[in-house]
Amino acid sequence: MAEQFDVTIIGSGPGGYVAAVRGAQVGLKVALVEKESGARLGGTCGLRGCIPTKALLQAAHLYEKAEHFADWGIKIENLGYDWTQVQKRKSDVVAKNSAGVSYLMKKHKITVFNGFGKIAGKGKVEVELEGGKKETIETKNIIIATGSVVRPIPGFEVDSKQVVNSDQILELERVPKSMIVMGSGAVGVEFASVYSRFGCETTVVELLDRIVPVEDAEVSKELARAFKKRGIKTETGIKLDKLQKSKTGVKATGKDSKGKDVTFEAEMFLVAVGRMPYLEKLGLENTKVVVNPRGTIKVNEYCETDEPNVYAIGDVIDTAWLAHLASKEGILVVEKIAGKKVEPINHRLVPNCTYCDPEVASVGLTEAKAKEEGYDVKVGKFPFSASGKARILGETDGFVKIVSEKKYDEVLGVHIIGPHATELLAEACVAMALETTADELGRTIHAHPTVSESVMEAAEGVHDLTIHI
Ligand SMILES: Cc1cc2nc3c(=O)[nH]c(=O)nc-3n(C[C@H](O)[C@H](O)[C@H](O)COP(=O)(O)OP(=O)(O)OC[C@H]3O[C@@H](n4cnc5c(N)ncnc54)[C@H](O)[C@@H]3O)c2cc1C
Repeated sequence: MAEQFDVTIIGSGPGGYVAAVRGAQVGLKVALVEKESGARLGGTCGLRGCIPTKALLQAAHLYEKAEHFADWGIKIENLGYDWTQVQKRKSDVVAKNSAGVSYLMKKHKITVFNGFGKIAGKGKVEVELEGGKKETIETKNIIIATGSVVRPIPGFEVDSKQVVNSDQILELERVPKSMIVMGSGAVGVEFASVYSRFGCETTVVELLDRIVPVEDAEVSKELARAFKKRGIKTETGIKLDKLQKSKTGVKATGKDSKGKDVTFEAEMFLVAVGRMPYLEKLGLENTKVVVNPRGTIKVNEYCETDEPNVYAIGDVIDTAWLAHLASKEGILVVEKIAGKKVEPINHRLVPNCTYCDPEVASVGLTEAKAKEEGYDVKVGKFPFSASGKARILGETDGFVKIVSEKKYDEVLGVHIIGPHATELLAEACVAMALETTADELGRTIHAHPTVSESVMEAAEGVHDLTIHI
């Protein structure tokens, strides 16, 4: 008789592999199926998303810092960069990370099947292994963690050379002279920050009326200002509708918010919008799983689909498409399968981080959203220009903004733009998870000199008690 697993997870991204590890920790017999050739584990996040982009951003950050070393009295002659080495280091980080995931699978005795997984009926996952051989896994539960892929945008077809998507831009062999970035979400502004710092003339074009439109409006404004200082152009309220290619570059045309024709020309065009859940040939027709009109899988707050014992997590469902959320959804599901008491995820507490320059990070409600929800809002703000540590770092752009409310003094949202914003946010996440008041956050002793003092000062600002402004 075939080996029986308690749970089979299809997909090894941050949703799938984290679910596998926790599943094993709580005593389940776990199988993990990954189609990526050579059993490269880690999914979009590890191979084509979070990890490689941040590796490139770190190189860009260091290069930009080095350009200003003279301000610190450090002399470097003939400063330059070797793009091949930049790419190599990024690829090394990706490979090491993926090997780390494989190590975790071995450590936790998780059986990895390298092949394409398909639900073949109740309690059955058929895997087409590399080389074409098929194997059927018998399993009590199935978790769909197949993630998302780039969605083609009609009229903006990619060719890996002049018109690229987020997968292809990671593999460029040289830095283009100029680039138009369509879309100012996290992907767009992060790649703009990478390539502009290596000398590429970059223009970010956004359909909505501000860049990073999911963030607090003041953060969008500050980022546009900081980008301008760094030579990155931002054009908002623009609907691009046509792309033409020539031997030397691309020409994108469209209309601005007043209906006026606009044209942008560059050597390269990055399509930084559009992803879709990846459910191809997954065998959903063999189940009662319901697919929403948007292409996502319908689940309840425990990630249960309409088919008993089949769950879906991460980028295939309607919650925010973020690695850390996919992981927490995976943990919730396997703990539930193991019979543990679990609580649905509070989506208001999911952090959102963008690793552009300067970094942007937020959790909870924006000021506008808090007002819309009827809170009697009180805001505290602290600029990094008043922080001793930010001055030491030479990174004084940005601020911390705390959105609170008058009745209970509860922290409703924290919005940070500036140095180490993505690390600073963790404190805000803990504070909000524990329903900390602005007063408590402001009274918590923060070490000096640190950039984290700015969070404390912004919290004190809610009661007009900041010390350093
Ligand atoms: C450029 C970029 C940068 C990003 N940066 C960040 C960031 O900094 N922080 C963040 O939180 N999020 C980031 N994201 C989003 C993040 O990558 C995703 O939210 C996350 O990877 C989703 O995890 P997942 O486990 O749902 O799926 P994925 O990571 O997409 O993994 C799915 C896996 O399933 C496999 N698979 C699919 N179908 C099958 C099948 N039938 N059989 C076997 N295997 C299959 C795929 O090969 C893949 O390995 C970024 C995304 C992009 C594109």
